[in-house]
Amino acid sequence: MSAVTRFKQSVSHGKERKGTSAIARLCLGHTMLSAHLHRLRLSPDPFCPWCRTTLEAMEHFLLQYPHFHSQHTALCSRLSALTITTLDLPTLLANSGVHHSWQPAVLRLTCAFLKTGQLPLM
Ligand SMILES: [Zn+2]
Repeated sequence: MSAVTRFKQSVSHGKERKGTSAIARLCLGHTMLSAHLHRLRLSPDPFCPWCRTTLEAMEHFLLQYPHFHSQHTALCSRLSALTITTLDLPTLLANSGVHHSWQPAVLRLTCAFLKTGQLPLM
């Protein structure tokens, strides 16, 4: 059973359901980020509006977006309290490198980040 499936089972409604939906969209790559929109021919280019030379993909949005530096710092700090020091997409989605007992907590932190970072999801 995947971490996302376990997480879905641990939440049932309200705010957390929205977070689950956000995580599912992240896993599927369905976002309003330029790289995805460009693949659908809905954006003239796939680049980040801030960096201009980097693809605006999920990993960039979640880990490198300069606009969300303070949110990245807060997320790193909270993950490090769980003894998680690797910050990459599989870790944020609790797919790898995260002990199963920490997976719901990691997914909740990722959801909280998505809320504050206002990831443009489809
Ligand atoms: Zn950028």
